[in-house]
Amino acid sequence: MLYDMIVIGGGPAGYTAALYAARSGLSVLVLEKLSAGGQMTNTEQIDNYPGFPEGIGGFELGERMQKGALRFGAENQFSEVKSVELSGQVKIVRTRKKEFQARTVVLAAGAYPRKTGVEGEDRFAGRGVAYCAACDGMFYKDKTVAVYGGGNSAVEDALLLSRICKKVYLIHRRDTLRATKVYQDALFGSSVELVWNSRVTAFLGDKHLSGVEIEDTKTGEKRELSLDGIFVSIGRIPDTGLFEGQVDMDEAGYLIADETTRTNLPGVFAAGDVRTKQLRQVITAAADGAAAAWNAEQYLAEEGC
Ligand SMILES: Cc1cc2nc3c(=O)[nH]c(=O)nc-3n(C[C@H](O)[C@H](O)[C@H](O)COP(=O)(O)OP(=O)(O)OC[C@H]3O[C@@H](n4cnc5c(N)ncnc54)[C@H](O)[C@@H]3O)c2cc1C
Repeated sequence: MLYDMIVIGGGPAGYTAALYAARSGLSVLVLEKLSAGGQMTNTEQIDNYPGFPEGIGGFELGERMQKGALRFGAENQFSEVKSVELSGQVKIVRTRKKEFQARTVVLAAGAYPRKTGVEGEDRFAGRGVAYCAACDGMFYKDKTVAVYGGGNSAVEDALLLSRICKKVYLIHRRDTLRATKVYQDALFGSSVELVWNSRVTAFLGDKHLSGVEIEDTKTGEKRELSLDGIFVSIGRIPDTGLFEGQVDMDEAGYLIADETTRTNLPGVFAAGDVRTKQLRQVITAAADGAAAAWNAEQYLAEEGC
């Protein structure tokens, strides 16, 4: 079967693309390697997706998005895409066991936060170790937290948290920040306390994080910092290795596409966290999914399909 659209990735971007496309009468297949919802499944509560005044569990929102797409006839298979051929008019998408063909493909494989790899990080993930201040900051209202990192995102996170939390530290391995001047100016005028030349060497606690062990990168001296939470902000990794050499990417590996989600390849669209954009959230991923479906429809019409 030749699908009108194959969507790679069943997160908010992927299922929204599938919903819009299927509702417009296109034949759609979503391929997801894990479970419906993408990164949302890693968070217990999403408070900033409109329409849910009490908030909603990430897993539940993922399932609801999936159901919304299936309601209009989108198909969903749980298998990992292993290779793609995207340059021809007919796009080829392969999983381990099957080969699929489509006229358009929406790349919605998402991204994931870079981890420190330090002892205790996974154990306390969601229990004091967080990766997104815009998402989880409110859970730490009036508490003491740290941000770990030194780039623009880390500074942005620290500034955001300083408006919510009682005390915010910014822990950075060096004695200068990588963040641009405009961010640094804002930071130095804020209440955020900088912990320079320091590396986190352990996440501490029992059931919930109670602090971190930090090592002075110059003297090697270790000490403990008591915290209610820490936001690891050392970058994100887009899940785009599969598309290398075919779809244009920036130096960090994000697929180059603007609001239209169109990539360098005709009929190939990049939606959600995989694409170059400012704000990576559920709502912006869903918005991209809608844009990708609409642009795919335009493309199919232009191609006379
Ligand atoms: C812990 C945490 C908490 C968060 N909290 C919030 C919040 O409160 N509010 C908010 O707005 N945002 C939050 N975010 C961010 C939000 O989840 C993401 O911005 C959003 O999920 C991006 O959606 P996406 O569809 O682009 O990608 P993703 O959600 O990353 O989904 C991509 C999907 O593609 C699949 N995939 C990847 N490669 C393949 C392949 N080869 N074959 C098949 N499938 C593949 C993945 O398994 C995944 O399911 C949070 C993120 C994290 C990590």
